[in-house]
Amino acid sequence: VRMDNPRQNVREYEGVRKDGSTFPVEFSLNDIKKEGVLLFILIIRDITQRKKTETALRESEIRLGNIVSAMPCAFFTSSIRDDGGQESLYISEGSKSVFRLDNSMFVPKNNLLLEQFEDEDANDIVEFRKSLFRNNKIDMFEREVKLKNGNWVHLRIRPERLKNGSILNHGLAIDITERKKAEEQIRYLAYHDLMTGAGNRAYLMKAFPKFISSANRHNKKFAVISIIPTNMSYFYANSGYDIGDMLMEEVANRITKVISDRDCLTYASGSRFILLKGGISHGSEIDDFCKNLEDIFIDSMKIEGQEFDVNVKIGVSIYPTHSSDSKALLKYSEVALSSTKYDFQSEYQIFSEHMKSKIARNLSLRTRLKHAILNKQILPYFQAQVDVLTGEIIGMEVLARWNDEEEGFIPPDVFIKIAEEYGLIESLSEAIIEEACKINKRWIDQGIARVPIAVNISGKHDPKSVLRLIDKMLNDIGLPPECLEVELTESAMMEDALASRRTIEKLRKRGVLCSVDDFGTGYSSLSMLKRFPLKKLKIDRTFVLDINSANGKAIINATIAMAKALNLVVLAEGVDNTLHFKYLKEQGCDIIQGYLFSKPLCEKDMEEKLKNWDSCHEISLVNMN
Ligand code: C2E
Ligand code: CA
Ligand code: CA
Repeated sequence: VRMDNPRQNVREYEGVRKDGSTFPVEFSLNDIKKEGVLLFILIIRDITQRKKTETALRESEIRLGNIVSAMPCAFFTSSIRDDGGQESLYISEGSKSVFRLDNSMFVPKNNLLLEQFEDEDANDIVEFRKSLFRNNKIDMFEREVKLKNGNWVHLRIRPERLKNGSILNHGLAIDITERKKAEEQIRYLAYHDLMTGAGNRAYLMKAFPKFISSANRHNKKFAVISIIPTNMSYFYANSGYDIGDMLMEEVANRITKVISDRDCLTYASGSRFILLKGGISHGSEIDDFCKNLEDIFIDSMKIEGQEFDVNVKIGVSIYPTHSSDSKALLKYSEVALSSTKYDFQSEYQIFSEHMKSKIARNLSLRTRLKHAILNKQILPYFQAQVDVLTGEIIGMEVLARWNDEEEGFIPPDVFIKIAEEYGLIESLSEAIIEEACKINKRWIDQGIARVPIAVNISGKHDPKSVLRLIDKMLNDIGLPPECLEVELTESAMMEDALASRRTIEKLRKRGVLCSVDDFGTGYSSLSMLKRFPLKKLKIDRTFVLDINSANGKAIINATIAMAKALNLVVLAEGVDNTLHFKYLKEQGCDIIQGYLFSKPLCEKDMEEKLKNWDSCHEISLVNMN
């Protein structure tokens, strides 16, 4: 038989020696045709040594393979073509875990690994392969790349040029996902607020240039939106920090639900969020978005079985309409935020030039106010509080008056707000209260009258310094504590209910009683009010103004009934006619303060009023009309 493949004539057998031991032998049979005669040559070879070498080689290959596959990295070798394609020659076991390939995929298929890279990296690899055919210098390809499966690898490709001109690529990909995750975590910590999960200020400042260039590229606008949840300090005080933090987290969650991935939500100091919202063409889109934002806070938040009503105030500035500078935009969105009117109701404001001129005016007012305080140009005026039944003056409210050299009379509503916003409120109250206490002490000492004065304390006044101030009045001036009262507005009390309650309790211990001012405009409940050791409840002027309507009457009646139930004295403010007086008296109101009896008067005029006051005459006059 003619055998074409010589190796087919080779067989291995087991040989047996005389002593019975065995050894491997190889039989190889070859045929030779010689002068028409076919000859066979059989060679028998002892292959013991070769077998040993083969086994050792196989074992070491397996060992090496094991080592390689146990490493968290992938080795691969491929032969590449000048069009950037390749022929895979080898892929190590370890590639399975690095590239997350399952067994069925684990065949040395062309471009199997390339498919695992993102398009941009895959393109770069193909370009690298092509370049190897263009220039002789052989470079390495090395970079950290993210795979489509989310893993990160450090990829290194070393080319090898063979003598026949073909080129091999030897690749090594090490899994660096864990390290990248740690780096991402560190970056996250550096750029995020941990309580709310929103970005932080550093994140915000990094986001600005991106928003600016994207807006310029697409010829669009973006909005800088400051969002402040309103009742938070109240919830923190009453329900504790855990609940407060959970509420803030929920606020962030709710906002996140109505924004897109491209928007940037950050948490800034002062419990506020700053949102950058891009892709805006028309102002109306901002209105729609803000209304939407307000709406997501309509439903109460439920935490640990309790319900909380959180509202938001929103201020907006727009790039490039209002400014192209990030710091100015931030300031303007804050300005818009501070122009919102409601404290306990959601509301949004978009920045306007008018607000800008208001700031300029405010700053000029602030400078003048500061001087006026220093130069004692802000004076205490006194308004009588009259007993409904006897007509006696049983109290006086101290009201600040400022006659500015430039502008003339500036209403306290205006300058108190400036003082509060620009950090002058404490020095202002100190000046007014000290002056008023001195005057009252003199009236007492000179036997003119012994009537308590009620001073207004702003919600922005630090509770500790309130106590220090009152102590100073009692000790330094020597005003008897029963001749000094404090008015706190209902909304200020609720802003930080716990701190207010402590202050009121401490004042009471000193013998100084407190009233709740502007009652009805805030957000307190009967159960809250019960816990404050108050003396007086002052019905706000707006309700007295509304007394003729059925609604107004209902509110007044309910407030008086409630105050009586809590054992509080009721005072009505802004009473300027006898009809109001009579109605309030009928309903059981105890004290009246208003133009009907007296406007706020300066020291000299009030002194005259106190000297000449005829209770019986005054009360019969109003009762008669
Ligand atoms: P308020 O504490 O509610 O003071 C009562 C306001 O009602 C006073 O306005 C008073 O003049 C006015 N009023 C009283 N009776 C009548 C009336 O029959 N008719 C009318 N139309 N008005 C009447 P004023 O003095 O302009 O003060 C406004 C607000 O400014 C005060 O409201 C208070 O919140 C604040 N304020 C005034 N002085 C001080 C102060 O020394 N410290 C603080 N923190 N706030 C002050
Ligand atoms: Ca008051
Ligand atoms: Ca009031």
